[in-house]
Amino acid sequence: MRYGIFSDVHSNLPALEAVLTAYQEERIDRHACIGDIVGYAANPRECINKIRDLKPILVAGNHDWACADLLNTRYFNPIAKEAIEWTEMQLSHDEKSFLKSMDLVFSDSNFILVHGTLDSPEDFDYLFDQLDAQINFELMAADICFVGHTHIPGVFVQDINNRISYVQDYPLSLSPRKKYIVNVGSVGQPRDRNPMASYCVFDSDRSVIDIKRVNYDIKQAQDSIFAAGLPSFLAERLAAGK
Ligand code: ZN
Repeated sequence: MRYGIFSDVHSNLPALEAVLTAYQEERIDRHACIGDIVGYAANPRECINKIRDLKPILVAGNHDWACADLLNTRYFNPIAKEAIEWTEMQLSHDEKSFLKSMDLVFSDSNFILVHGTLDSPEDFDYLFDQLDAQINFELMAADICFVGHTHIPGVFVQDINNRISYVQDYPLSLSPRKKYIVNVGSVGQPRDRNPMASYCVFDSDRSVIDIKRVNYDIKQAQDSIFAAGLPSFLAERLAAGK
């Protein structure tokens, strides 16, 4: 199977369209979205509906939960909170129900998906360093866990001696004796100082993970953020990739 796994679209339609076009050339069998479909940019409805059409494996992010009234917005910074409140006003009852229907964790024998971390996924903690990774590795029933949330792509690798390393070289060939936590980065708001949209391809037959980047029309995303009256910082940061 070839999986197209992506996260943190954040209502950025031009970025999502660029990634879906790139996936068409990857012969993807199944898509998976690790949450934060909405929040920040100006096209929440279009992003929800495009992702729904993929019939992907889905887990919820903190922005999805907040826009579906499942998470209090006091946990968000003022700019994120303003975008969530704006997004909530755009969404239909049906679109909100869709966001509400997403689980926090997906798990099968091949891999796990969670937006933040496996210990209390409802708290949406960040998995940034080796200590966070260690806790997550201990809770993994499969050898691979895909995450999002930090918007920074990278892979934590645990060897048979429980040593953990961090790699950002792709494609990555998987060893059956190791475990992996793969942050697929962000489609719609990358924060690793690379403004290109980030997406992952996992080939489970060949045991290879690739994280790729694609250019998209940043100006178009920015213009729609300005036109919607959303905070201008949300447009400016897209060009800087942070
Ligand atoms: Zn996010």
